[in-house]
Amino acid sequence: MTQARYLCPACGTTLAADRPLWRCDCGSHLNLAPGEGLVRGEIETGDASLWRYRTALAMAGAPRVSLGEGWTPLVARDWDGATIRFKLESQMPTGSFKDRGTAVMLNHLLEVGVGPIHEDSSGNAGSSIATYAAAAGIPCRIFVPASAPRGKVVQIAASGASSASGCRASMKRSPLSLIRVAPSPRSASVASGAGSRPTMMAVG
Ligand SMILES: [Zn+2]
Repeated sequence: MTQARYLCPACGTTLAADRPLWRCDCGSHLNLAPGEGLVRGEIETGDASLWRYRTALAMAGAPRVSLGEGWTPLVARDWDGATIRFKLESQMPTGSFKDRGTAVMLNHLLEVGVGPIHEDSSGNAGSSIATYAAAAGIPCRIFVPASAPRGKVVQIAASGASSASGCRASMKRSPLSLIRVAPSPRSASVASGAGSRPTMMAVG
C-alpha cells in the first residue's frame, strides 16, 4: 500500500500526507504529489465500487465512510453512426461524479483528523461534500451563489442544512450568504470533538 504525499511547488519538499498540514515550512501551499497508479493485478475485482482501486488511492486503511460510490454503468449507444459508451455518473449517490473525489477526500480527512469543512461550490461539489460530511460526522458549511440550481440547494439542505445564498463574489465577504450543514444526529458524538480539529477549506 502506497502512502499519499504532499509536494511543495516552491521548494520541492515532499511530506507524508498522514497528518494535518496547512503549508510547507517555506510558506508555500502544498499539492498532493502524483500517485503511483496501479496495474491490473492490483484491482480488487470483487469490490463493485470505487474502492476496487483503493491501492491507487493511497489511504492508510479501509474507507470508513462509503455510500456505494463508483462502478456506475457503461452503456453503449449509437451516435451518428458510431458506437459510443456513456458512463452513467448520474447513478452516483448524490447524482454527480463529484462523489468519487469527495469519498476519497472525506475518508482521508477522517484518517488525519481534519474538520470542520468550508466549501465554495456552484452546486454539485457542495451537495456531494455536504452529504458525505453528514455521513462522516464532520461539521460542514457550503457557500453557494444565488444562481446555484435549486435542486442542489435543496439537496444540500437535506443533509441537515438551513440555507441562504448570494452573489458568489459578494458572499465571500458576507457571512450571511452560506448554507450551514449540521452533523447528522447519529454522528453527533463523533462531531462533538470536531471543534478543536484543524479546518479544511475546499473549492469545487
Ligand atoms: Zn516548501
